[in-house]
Amino acid sequence: MAYDYDDQNIFAKILRGEIPNSTVLETEHSLAFNDIVPQAPLHVLVIPKGPYVCYDHFALTATDAEIVDFTRAVGEVCRMLGVQPGEGDEGFRLISNAGRDGVQEVPHLHVHILAGRHLGRMLAAAK
Ligand code: AMP
Repeated sequence: MAYDYDDQNIFAKILRGEIPNSTVLETEHSLAFNDIVPQAPLHVLVIPKGPYVCYDHFALTATDAEIVDFTRAVGEVCRMLGVQPGEGDEGFRLISNAGRDGVQEVPHLHVHILAGRHLGRMLAAAK
């Protein structure tokens, strides 16, 4: 499968500085910023700076350095938010939507970090 990256997507524009964002963390290969329509009290998106459409594209073609940086950036944001699972009510959910069935709106890989309230079950029962 050859992925076709659209460099006019909104996250590409954020990375080029054409659209502002509320940055939470920036690393060499990744950027984390607050979601503009938060679905939970804490809702941060983490994206690689490289042109990857979705997780599969990233896993197939990103460099090891990009993959390590991105994976660590997700963990770093969770620590910054103070939502590591512990003895209280903490915890978080990671989601990365892809394609039509995943209902991906922005075709640049992103991981949603959701936290700050009980998030309920992940999905409704399968149909
Ligand atoms: P997805 O459906 O997984 O592609 O999610 C895309 C997410 O990007 C949604 O949660 C949007 O609220 C979020 N989003 C869209 N535009 C922006 C923006 N300019 N800044 C921050 N988040 C955005």
